[in-house]
Amino acid sequence: MRGAHAPGLIPLARAAFSAWIDAAGAEGRSYLQLHLRAVATDRYRVRHLADRDADAATLETIADPYAARAVAQTTEEGAHRPLKTAPDLRRGWSFERLDGHGLWTVLDYLYPASAVHWYAERERRLRVTHWSETAARQSGMYSAVKLLPERAVRLAVPACCGDAVCLRRVAWGWSGDVPAPIDSESAGDSESAGDSESAGDSELSSHLQGSSVPCPEACSIFISFARAILPVERSPRASVQGLDALGELELQQIEALVAAADGTAHAPRSGEFDDPLNRRRVRYLGARLAALRQESAGELP
Ligand code: SF4
Repeated sequence: MRGAHAPGLIPLARAAFSAWIDAAGAEGRSYLQLHLRAVATDRYRVRHLADRDADAATLETIADPYAARAVAQTTEEGAHRPLKTAPDLRRGWSFERLDGHGLWTVLDYLYPASAVHWYAERERRLRVTHWSETAARQSGMYSAVKLLPERAVRLAVPACCGDAVCLRRVAWGWSGDVPAPIDSESAGDSESAGDSESAGDSELSSHLQGSSVPCPEACSIFISFARAILPVERSPRASVQGLDALGELELQQIEALVAAADGTAHAPRSGEFDDPLNRRRVRYLGARLAALRQESAGELP
């Protein structure tokens, strides 16, 4: 039953999603980084949210829904997008007069499975897999992620899943015994959707905050990230004046960050978790330092 969030209900999800857009009329709907609008009966327009009001002449008009695959593949700068719900969908295109089937095809390329999850949650049929179960079934080089302590997983979620790096909302918890969803915008997460690479204006940022699409189970990006931070968590700790107890790998990361501050640093790809300058790794270090600060604040006289 794993993954069967709404068995047999995909046609109902499609119908509900179209009806949701239809009900919005000319205003249309914001959905992740998309703007969706019904332009006639069973005809839809799909654009990047930031291009919602753009002059059509300035956008590439696309009729083939399968062209969404190429749109989803790369960022504005041409980099590969390993996570389709990262807030870096490129702009400049407009799918015009799609029928209901075409709309679903575009959605499935731009945000795979998201509309089914959106619908399943609305129907209270979303099947969530908590971290303990996801970790326990990993094998090979990923099997060690089950050793990551709960505290580290709770810091890893804001680092890896916050709105600045992923627009889904975490719906899974630590375990079946502790099922409350882990908050992805807490624990020292100083970034928000407003910092996201593609959220160019405040209006777009306000749409990105508070994602309406749940994440029912840790994805492969999170599992890779969990594997990368395990040695960080396990490296020998030394007391650093003013910083508390930091691990050897954390100190190396801080040194790399300081060295990069002169602006000559390379920009690691989003999935390069072994690189100390990787954005999620930096976010994790920030969350760790914020947690240390909170702990030590309680010890002050
Ligand atoms: S596990 Fe995190 S990064 Fe992966 S899809 Fe879910 S919310 Fe996004």
